[in-house]
Amino acid sequence: MNPLLTPFDTAPFSQIKNEDFKPAFLQAMKEARAEIDRITENSEAPSFANTIEALEFSGQQLDRISSIFFNLNSAETNEEIQKIAQEISPLLSEFSNDITLNEALFKRIKTVYGQRDSLDLTVEQQTLLDKKYKSFSRNGANLSDDKKKRLREIDAELSQLKLKFGENVLAETNTYEMHLTDENDLDGLPEGEKEAAAQLAQSKGKEGWLVTLDYPSYIPFMKYAKNRGLRKKLALAFGSKAFHGDEHDNQENVLKIAQLRYERANLLGYKTHAHFVLEERMAETPEKVHQFLNELLVKAKPAAKKEFIELEKFAKELDAIDRLEKWDGSYYSEKLKQKRFNLDDEKLKPYFKLENVIDGVFKVAEKLFDLKFEEVSDIEKYHDEVKTYKVYDTSGNFISVFYADFHPRKGKRGGAWMTSYKPQYRLKGKNVRPHISNVCNFTRSTPSKPSLLTFNEVTTLFHEFGHGLHGMLANTTYPSLSGTSVFWDFVELPSQVMENWCYEKEALELFAKHYETGEVIPMELVQKIKESSTFQEGMQTLRQLSFGLLDMSWHGIDPSGITDVKQHESEAFKDTNLYPDTPETCMSTAFSHIFQGGYSSGYYSYKWAEVLDADAFALFKEKGIFNKEVATKFKDNVLSKGGTENPMVLYKRFRGAEPKVEALLERAGLLE
Ligand SMILES: [Zn+2]
Repeated sequence: MNPLLTPFDTAPFSQIKNEDFKPAFLQAMKEARAEIDRITENSEAPSFANTIEALEFSGQQLDRISSIFFNLNSAETNEEIQKIAQEISPLLSEFSNDITLNEALFKRIKTVYGQRDSLDLTVEQQTLLDKKYKSFSRNGANLSDDKKKRLREIDAELSQLKLKFGENVLAETNTYEMHLTDENDLDGLPEGEKEAAAQLAQSKGKEGWLVTLDYPSYIPFMKYAKNRGLRKKLALAFGSKAFHGDEHDNQENVLKIAQLRYERANLLGYKTHAHFVLEERMAETPEKVHQFLNELLVKAKPAAKKEFIELEKFAKELDAIDRLEKWDGSYYSEKLKQKRFNLDDEKLKPYFKLENVIDGVFKVAEKLFDLKFEEVSDIEKYHDEVKTYKVYDTSGNFISVFYADFHPRKGKRGGAWMTSYKPQYRLKGKNVRPHISNVCNFTRSTPSKPSLLTFNEVTTLFHEFGHGLHGMLANTTYPSLSGTSVFWDFVELPSQVMENWCYEKEALELFAKHYETGEVIPMELVQKIKESSTFQEGMQTLRQLSFGLLDMSWHGIDPSGITDVKQHESEAFKDTNLYPDTPETCMSTAFSHIFQGGYSSGYYSYKWAEVLDADAFALFKEKGIFNKEVATKFKDNVLSKGGTENPMVLYKRFRGAEPKVEALLERAGLLE
């Protein structure tokens, strides 16, 4: 018996063998296809129930098998699982393509969609209908055959170009190395960083030290290396990736990607690629994004300029630097920050023992949302280190299963994330509760010391737990609208807002206690953490805005007039520049977020989400950070609602008004 094809509640990890996955996938796909066939072959007229709901609840077994498999591939993988992933992924994309290209299915959906105003649907049902319809129409289902053909050509070409773009960036990153043989050239670097550079050299059979364009090597060198000439050399290499006019140059690829995205959007009836993307975002239109970015720009620029002048003055005093260049920023900022705050992780870590922080985040969840976390041993886990909990509300109702997996292992990818093994939904009168997981990579305990978190790890834990709450507290009918299935620029609200509690005395007192003495973290340290968290906020904001504006400059217009990538970029950056421009460098040719990844017309959402969380938390600050009424409003209107309604509507119901940038500016100390 294949345990994945036998009914189960929580994932039956102990029984699953790697070789069970492929047959389970194949069988579940076959069943999901049969479910779709039953919808299209139904002789009754298309209705919301027999078409939209039937589609929504099809393929559930496949979804569960997929989530178990891909969650394992991230948190506890091995070569065999990776190999299966490579075999299965194309089959899964073929499966989902077959659905979006299924004309009989679309015909039924379109019929229901055409009747939407007379069907007496709930808001959630309307949202589901709209979402299902758009998942087809946005992929060309309404186009004539020759336009459909062109769309497929564009999609194929775009995926080739994006691949090529990424390969070029990778090649340029990997081929560069700065080989140093004089130890003086590493002056200023902490011992650990020097060792890492020496090890890197050794691993490539070289004497001395190697510095590369990979972040773990590049960032510390720019931050600490005293030698200005070498910083310049490295910065120029970093900033000119795929901009050398050779076989790895991305200028042509950038122009082509922008042009094809524009053509694709036009084919589908949208003015630009940004209009197409933003239709399914809280921001809605390019105009709103521009307005948002420019409003922040106007308000952050004076502070950024002031900070820049201050930094310039500091560099002049320290090293007689006349003109601050791009390769000086990170170095002098770090020095200035040390001088001002003298705050390092080692001072803070003793107050953040992992077990205390977990206990703290649970207490915060209890005070805000009436949740109780009970650690249990009767839920199967994929690794001994995973902790399992059953979550109840204070009336004893079961809310969720919660998995927590905190430490790095060989088979786990880096970073921290929230995921689910099973979404929440309602079917046949039953509210099926979700299975949620948080996975992190925090420092492990040693025989002499418990696991002590850096402050950054503490905020990460609260962040992922915030995503977790979004999943756990979900209370919707349809699984595809449940929990974190929301518009992209809304999904970081529940996570980022939770980070705010890490800076509050009332919350820290609950858990930030010295692991040996039990002493609560001194308030002066908390104050320093707060102040240092907004250090150079004006300059940071300007930098983020410059990326957002560059993104929109490529995707919010007809790009056919652009011929010179660097010139276009300089134009886009003209209002956000602080440092002198360097003709050798170009950001667009290595801007993988927007040209390779999924962030095109979406870079603004980093700042957008910050505004949301600052504005939301401002209400807690006003009424009390553990105010039940505010927390309940947040739970009822945001956390439990998933993507069942337009996020702006949900937000306004919680907050009473649209989010305002002032809340962020105030928190960041940017208000005059
Ligand atoms: Zn997040």
